[in-house]
Amino acid sequence: MSLANRNAVVTGSTSGIGLAYARALAKEGANVVINGFGVAADIEKERAAIEAEFKVKCLYDAADMTKPDQIAAMIANAEKAFGSVDILINNAGIQFVAPIEDFPVEKWDQIIAINLSSAFHGIRAAARGMKTRKWGRIINTASAHSLVASPFKSAYVAAKHGIAGLTKTAALETATFGVTVNCISPGYVWTPLVEKQIPDTMKARNMTREQVMHDVLLAAQPTKQFVTVEQVAALAVFLCSDAAAQITGANISMDGGWTAE
Ligand code: NAD
Repeated sequence: MSLANRNAVVTGSTSGIGLAYARALAKEGANVVINGFGVAADIEKERAAIEAEFKVKCLYDAADMTKPDQIAAMIANAEKAFGSVDILINNAGIQFVAPIEDFPVEKWDQIIAINLSSAFHGIRAAARGMKTRKWGRIINTASAHSLVASPFKSAYVAAKHGIAGLTKTAALETATFGVTVNCISPGYVWTPLVEKQIPDTMKARNMTREQVMHDVLLAAQPTKQFVTVEQVAALAVFLCSDAAAQITGANISMDGGWTAE
């Protein structure tokens, strides 16, 4: 177990990619704070399952990623409970699809807050401890949309390009402290986030569900397959290993060849 005695916080980990990160880190022996929204009983089930399956400590923190004070408190609480935060994965994210002239202003603000600013607040709170202890791993879930754009996703694409820039800056500031900061840029991963955007894309493009799946989503992905959450999580575990100590400031694609085109 390569991450025994490491303590991790994974934002947006009640579902999808985040839950896979939390489970993969726990499998390697890390204690984990999970975070995100959902039905309380379902979250408790996932939390208890992580503790039972992997024999680690797993706590749930309900911090809302639109609230900077709650994000700082989540990091402080994790440091108090576990003694340190060694691994921070900024992963919470939402999507909204609409033409720019109809894009609701509050949706823009919400996406920038959750998909971009929350990572700044998390890093701001966790970096000092990592630098002091001379070891840390910060991983931001970016997206193929941190490198290329798609129509009707103005806020998401702007936030993800921002995450890529934040990653580089934080990497440079922590480079001599044993701390690495990277982002992972998946293409389409089959999660609730992808499933939920199908109806809006159907409306925006006047398409059927099947057309959206094949002509919009997988059209961009040369392998014609969705990425799995387990594949993304395995890359995060590698980035936490000593073998990855010299990978910092990188934006690593896992997109079935999408951004090679
Ligand atoms: P998901 O909807 O399954 O999970 C999103 C998580 O974020 C959930 O746990 C949700 O509760 C949490 N969340 C949402 N708003 C929050 C808030 N205000 N405060 C705290 N938590 C909040 O989505 P996913 O597909 O697993 O996405 C995870 C990340 O991966 C996102 O940053 C997303 O942009 C990115 N991503 C996803 C794909 C994909 O195809 N699914 C591709 C590239 C990047």
